[in-house]
Amino acid sequence: MSSVGAPDAAARGERRDARLRRVRDRMAEMDVRALLLSHGADLPWLTGYRAMPLERLTLLVLPLEGDPVLFVPTLEAPRVSSLPEGIALRPWDETEDPLDLAAAATGPGARGRIALSDRAWAATLLGLQDRLPGARFLAASHVTGALRAVKDPSEIHALRQAGAAADGVAAALQAGEVRLAGRTERDVSQEIAERLVEAGHRQVNFSIVGSGPNGASPHHDAGLRVIAPGDVVVCDFGGQWVAHGDDVGYCSDITRTVVVGDPSPEVRDCYAVLEAAQAAGVAAARPGAAAEDVDHAARQVIADAGLGERFIHRTGHGIGIEEHEDPYVVTGNRTPLVEGHAFSVEPGLYFAGRFGMRLEDIVVVAPHGPDPLNRVDHRLAVVEG
Ligand code: ZN
Ligand code: ZN
Ligand code: ZN
Repeated sequence: MSSVGAPDAAARGERRDARLRRVRDRMAEMDVRALLLSHGADLPWLTGYRAMPLERLTLLVLPLEGDPVLFVPTLEAPRVSSLPEGIALRPWDETEDPLDLAAAATGPGARGRIALSDRAWAATLLGLQDRLPGARFLAASHVTGALRAVKDPSEIHALRQAGAAADGVAAALQAGEVRLAGRTERDVSQEIAERLVEAGHRQVNFSIVGSGPNGASPHHDAGLRVIAPGDVVVCDFGGQWVAHGDDVGYCSDITRTVVVGDPSPEVRDCYAVLEAAQAAGVAAARPGAAAEDVDHAARQVIADAGLGERFIHRTGHGIGIEEHEDPYVVTGNRTPLVEGHAFSVEPGLYFAGRFGMRLEDIVVVAPHGPDPLNRVDHRLAVVEG
């Protein structure tokens, strides 16, 4: 199907060239002499190639001036299907020292600032520090974070598809199609994961099911507790969705809270506060507002209801190739929101030993205001006990 694939590939090539230019501009602005990318999302974002987290070194050396080289273990070279033009592939053999090669490509006498992947192994950094004693290292996210945070239309499309697929699973949950009462959290978690894959996800990243008192732990690991009538159940799940013909996936992340049988007045009241807080956070996601304004908007509603201490985490996180990335929706993050920023808005209320609840959507900042990617019902879902 090359007649269909070719324009896609050309568009992808253009997007990656544009990203490379923006990265180089920012490196020049920040006086970064070289960008070194190992594991993590920066490398696939820039090149389309995702390195496996092996102990063997994968490293893209992108000097401010000069040609970039991607060092990969020889056995991984067949996985590198296509690189943007101008990036040379240099497989290294088992008997070579890849850090020597990388240091030589960086410039043996390199001085000044060198940015290295946040997710690189410490051994890589320590080895490079030995070989490049004149260099000062900083985290690559200082260069790439703000660039990656602003999604282009193809990335928003992928996030939207991921969101729609997750919405389908959430709707099934709310409709009672995923049975809760009498099953273990782990069982329900597995069914949610299977449904995410059926809905088109390539990979499930997590599937949290926190029932009753377990819901008070925001990242509870689905366990052997059997869900019972009266339980409030927090379900937070997401995975990776890959566009046709692409290699790099984008993430979904959604939370819905479901009650088995009639909710108590307390649960209903708390949920009304949560729903209003989440809506206020979403409404604040407009160009020109600061990232922290979204947090403040949600938090204020909860504080006004006297529940401030129950909301124990930030309101959200950016999302893209990674589940958690810039921009973080947290007090102190004054980053001005612009069109293309994508992040979660997910306030929660947690009552230790009793129950928890959370409501989460992914939102993209559009020119006119928030564009929520998750549209499934926000009301408290009640399923049969
Ligand atoms: Zn989380
Ligand atoms: Zn989530
Ligand atoms: Zn989230």
